[in-house]
Amino acid sequence: MIRTSALLALGAALTLTACSGSSDDAGSKAPLIVYSSRNEQLIKPVFDRYTQDTGQPIQFITGKQGPLLQRMRSEGQGSPADLLITVDAGNLWKAASDDLLRPAQSETLDDRIPAHLRDPESRWYGLSVRARTIIHSTERVDPESLSTYAALADPEWEDRLCLRTSQKVYNQSLVAMMISAQGEQAAEAVVRGWVNNLAAEPFSNDNAVMEAIVAGQCDVGIVNTYYFGRMQRTDPDIPLALFWPNQDSELGDIRGVHVNVSGAGIAASTDQFEAAQAFLEWLAGPEAQEILADGNLEYPANPTVPSDPLVKAWGDFVPNVINVSEAGKLQPDAVRLMERAGYH
Ligand code: FE
Repeated sequence: MIRTSALLALGAALTLTACSGSSDDAGSKAPLIVYSSRNEQLIKPVFDRYTQDTGQPIQFITGKQGPLLQRMRSEGQGSPADLLITVDAGNLWKAASDDLLRPAQSETLDDRIPAHLRDPESRWYGLSVRARTIIHSTERVDPESLSTYAALADPEWEDRLCLRTSQKVYNQSLVAMMISAQGEQAAEAVVRGWVNNLAAEPFSNDNAVMEAIVAGQCDVGIVNTYYFGRMQRTDPDIPLALFWPNQDSELGDIRGVHVNVSGAGIAASTDQFEAAQAFLEWLAGPEAQEILADGNLEYPANPTVPSDPLVKAWGDFVPNVINVSEAGKLQPDAVRLMERAGYH
């Protein structure tokens, strides 16, 4: 009865939600329990589809990444969790290094998800890909003048750059990848240059960065593409455009556009390993990949699945294919580096 009491103990902020399965045998299988830092609106349609197709009931709790991981840690082996779904390789890496995840043993998963988007030890798999790239004013910036993330540190961009705060994992992962590619010293020089070029104090989110560019407060920034996609959906004529930096492999900082993942892993506490792995395989398959990616205007992690037309219209780019787990490993270094460089 450990599982039941643990479930009852879930606080108000973490409400267990059952997915509506229409299948007849939905009642006969034990539910899979998913802990998710992705919101209900995004994941519930995917879970519902799986239940309809397979009769496997799914229950889930959603919560912020920190409290969710803390909960898994304190529940230990008695945790009811069968799977963890979260954003950012840094968070997935943390969960794995805290022994909260159990390695999958699946050729299907290894076939469906490219090696750089999953844990080398199979404890987690990227399920959708987000690109963190340069955004610029179409009124005041000629894309010809852009090249790399590092070049945004050049004097040409003085008082023209807007950035999101360094407190958020997204920029920590970007800087971690820069450290991985060019070493700490070179990465720090770039970050110092960025700080020098800031037109305003760092913003709390990517939307605020884009709004500041539209308002004329600055001319360039760095954002996750899906935030731009959401804005573009509301206002197709917004005077902003994405730029794919680091496409020339001869340039010194990271090779290709910085990508990160949202992903999932099997919980170490699961007593339904086979069922959890079957569900994870399905999440990496075409049906789920399309819903997951399109729901948030991200890229499918499975390269055989096409992107949403709006996303496709941004054009192709060369991604950085260094394993995304590097972002996790080097995150503490990245945080210290940004602090030293005065990037808050
Ligand atoms: Fe986000």
